[in-house]
Amino acid sequence: MSKMQRNIPLKDFSNYKIGGPASFFLEVKSVEDLKQGLSEFYGMFPNGESRPEVFILGSGTNVLIDDKGFSGLVLRNLISHLKLIDGVNVEAGSGTSFKDLVDFCIENSLSGLEWAGGLPGTVGGATRGNAGAFKGETKDSIKSVESVDLKTLEKKTRAAGECNFGYRTSIFKKGEGEREMIVSAVFEFKRGDREEIRSATYEKTSYRNKKHPLDYPNIGSTFKNIPYDTIPDQFREEFKAYIKDDPFPIVPVAKLLALSGLKGREAGGAQISEKHPNFIVNKGSASSNDVRSLIQTAKDVIKKNYLIDLEEEIYYLPPAMQV
Ligand SMILES: Cc1cc2nc3c(=O)[nH]c(=O)nc-3n(C[C@H](O)[C@H](O)[C@H](O)COP(=O)(O)OP(=O)(O)OC[C@H]3O[C@@H](n4cnc5c(N)ncnc54)[C@H](O)[C@@H]3O)c2cc1C
Repeated sequence: MSKMQRNIPLKDFSNYKIGGPASFFLEVKSVEDLKQGLSEFYGMFPNGESRPEVFILGSGTNVLIDDKGFSGLVLRNLISHLKLIDGVNVEAGSGTSFKDLVDFCIENSLSGLEWAGGLPGTVGGATRGNAGAFKGETKDSIKSVESVDLKTLEKKTRAAGECNFGYRTSIFKKGEGEREMIVSAVFEFKRGDREEIRSATYEKTSYRNKKHPLDYPNIGSTFKNIPYDTIPDQFREEFKAYIKDDPFPIVPVAKLLALSGLKGREAGGAQISEKHPNFIVNKGSASSNDVRSLIQTAKDVIKKNYLIDLEEEIYYLPPAMQV
């Protein structure tokens, strides 16, 4: 029997400290736990039509959870392990924290994830969203990904080239893998000098500690940065000065939000960060609607000022609760 729980508050599993209860909640520590738990859950709803939704939760560093909660099953991913293979490959359970993977690389003198110093979240979350920073992306080191289809419980292995990785996306976010849970990934690194890897990683962690508003609960950058080649003609010349190459020429949303005077804008307990305006922080008592209201304001203002449609980098739970 799995340890299925009922009406579990999700606030404590969210980096935002926002969110109502999940009607069903199950922590999975292995693929066997996952399969057993899902079989039992589906058995509770013999009529497939009325079966509630399933949502996979990593560390909750990228999800805005609604205050009303979620009427389906939240699978909290605790599948955690790290295994060195052939000296340069590492197999990581998808619930392993990315920090543990990065530290493992340092200890084993493996180069490739220095860009990820200070990146929060799990291996599964980073793989699904192809997390990236400082010109690096998760996909750059991935060799293969193993997942389990949440409906059929069938296991699949895809080589990196079959995962349709793109800017903050993959086949697990958009496409045939959407209804799959990533259970592990194999990374391929290069051997390097341990102290050089440590110091390059530490430099990124320090940068984040300095530039990100970590004093308040947050879920990272709210919006995706804007590819320069999609900028409307009339703003191209003006925006040239702001271009960053990360991982291709983009205009940082933070810059446009700052130029639009939105730094520090508040709604209830939520605030567009003064320190980094692409972060919306929870100043203590923010509701999911407070955050949504700021997201809507940012979208409206950027559309009006620059004719650009901002696209969220964050996820919503329930997924249908987007602004
Ligand atoms: C301070 C801060 C800084 C950040 N900096 C960056 C950054 O530089 N670059 C960047 O890309 N992101 C950044 N993020 C966002 C976030 O940390 C990453 O996107 C992270 O990879 C999300 O992992 P998670 O485990 O917390 O995912 P969650 O937030 O738990 O989930 C995110 C989405 O992934 C899905 N998911 C999670 N695990 C799995 C799985 N095993 N299988 C299938 N789907 C899954 C969830 O269903 C959800 O849709 C930052 C966040 C914070 C709070």
